[in-house]
Amino acid sequence: MSLAIIWDERFTNISFSHPMIRDISKERIKRFWELLKDEPGIVFVKPDLATRKDLELVHTTDYINKLEKASEDPYIGFLDSGDTTHYPGMFNDILLIVGSSITAIKYSNFFDKIYIPLGGFHHALPNQAMGFCPVNDIGIATKILLEKGERIAIVDVDAHHGNGLQYLFYNKSILKINIFAYDGKFFPGTGHYSERGLGEGKGLNYNIAMPLGSADDSFYEALRILDKVSEFNPTYIIVLAGVDGHKEDNLKSLNLTTNSFNLLGYRINRISKELHSKVISYGGGGYGNYSALCMREFVRGLKGIREKIEKDTEDIEKTKYVKRLVSLLSEGFPSSF
Ligand SMILES: [Zn+2]
Repeated sequence: MSLAIIWDERFTNISFSHPMIRDISKERIKRFWELLKDEPGIVFVKPDLATRKDLELVHTTDYINKLEKASEDPYIGFLDSGDTTHYPGMFNDILLIVGSSITAIKYSNFFDKIYIPLGGFHHALPNQAMGFCPVNDIGIATKILLEKGERIAIVDVDAHHGNGLQYLFYNKSILKINIFAYDGKFFPGTGHYSERGLGEGKGLNYNIAMPLGSADDSFYEALRILDKVSEFNPTYIIVLAGVDGHKEDNLKSLNLTTNSFNLLGYRINRISKELHSKVISYGGGGYGNYSALCMREFVRGLKGIREKIEKDTEDIEKTKYVKRLVSLLSEGFPSSF
């Protein structure tokens, strides 16, 4: 068996999203289970709970105390200025979320590819919740793998730039690729293509900042940057496969179809086979009726199945821009663009 999915029934009742979209987030996970539970060639693995010590790999003691205290509050409230919710008992859910990553690392000894449908909280900072993310589960997983001496590439695909992950590993010898929607002010506001890393991480940070509204043809061009993963030759590829870039998403910013997410999974599968590297992947963002289907298409791509179940979208002008950006970044630091 080569593909495992970390699954726990409790996932269907966990969301840190804004109250307006919490039900959509939960519905997405329920539908994902319905779509995937009978998919052949997948083993479902139950996650262990993380400990407070695991959270300390990324987060400050004061911040972890704040999360614990908020979890005891009998009401729903915000951890930040109005995006990320806390609710009674949330701390245990946080330990389940982070435990999923730790279980994935453990099981990567037995499976080449692992998918965590509820995970990929890439906005959280060491002392701050942000963008529906109370903790940075990918950051914690990456720290554990770094301590084991693994060589790591992070491929962060989501409608939103992974500011928290970029911040945590900007000066580390980790390849970091972000593909997302950007206009200079779109949430979280970071992700300019000139942010290329510092110190040991210099030249290893790639921001494929696509114009808002970019379509499948732009995304296909953006994926050319994955050649950098092959060059870097990691032992682990960590993939955030956020699906909030689908054209029907409620936080609409990109114009992608399910086909893009299938190709992402398919390309990652091909690269990991060539390199004999392990893959740990995450569901990331997604707030619409198509979110669960996009997740299934990513998983099927990861299994080596290439398929198109929608008509591709196109925007020739935006694609020209993305093509040029990928070419310039591939060659080095773009001096003018
Ligand atoms: Zn997002």
